[in-house]
Amino acid sequence: MSKVFVITGPSGVGKGTLISKLLERVPDLELSVSATTRQPREGEVNGRDYHFLTAEEFDERIEQGDFLEFATYSGNLYGTMRTEVERRLSEGHSVVLEIEVQGARQVRAAMRESVQVFIAPPAPGVLRQRLNARGTDAPHAIDARLEVAAQELAAQDEFAYRVVNDDLAQAADELERIVRVELGLPLDSPQ
Ligand code: 5GP
Repeated sequence: MSKVFVITGPSGVGKGTLISKLLERVPDLELSVSATTRQPREGEVNGRDYHFLTAEEFDERIEQGDFLEFATYSGNLYGTMRTEVERRLSEGHSVVLEIEVQGARQVRAAMRESVQVFIAPPAPGVLRQRLNARGTDAPHAIDARLEVAAQELAAQDEFAYRVVNDDLAQAADELERIVRVELGLPLDSPQ
């Protein structure tokens, strides 16, 4: 049985790292590649990390109804194209969406069977440390992300599952366990 997993949580919480580990550990799980109007960061590849679109291209796709969900985050548009999800499901894969909270709500409304996981920091101050350490965003962009983060943290009770990313190995195990239980897979993964 294929499922859609929505993984959300504030910027800097470590969603990307946890999801990479999850994809390595659970077979038949694929990550949906989102579209965005944000500028590519160094090392990001179009079509692999994101589909990088102009604002005009993104608007056109909105009008054509191409998005399962989309939202504005920190001044840029981000969205999940229906084809990204549908193609994978039809091939028998389960799909992981790494998206922010507004998008997660839209997916919840459209696909009530989606599995929704909120990744929380052990304390709010950790986010600034991690965003600074990551070094991918300018200081003003980090401030904007932290403002959004406060709103996202306030929404965490809406989510069926919550994983606190304090110890990375433990959080990765917990996320894997949630996904395995939801998919009816054995809990002892071969190492
Ligand atoms: P970043 O700029 O750090 O890559 O992403 C910023 C935020 O947008 C993150 O919280 C990320 O999870 C979220 N995001 C990425 N792709 C999508 C998407 O397709 N839809 C929505 N709603 N949010 C997304």
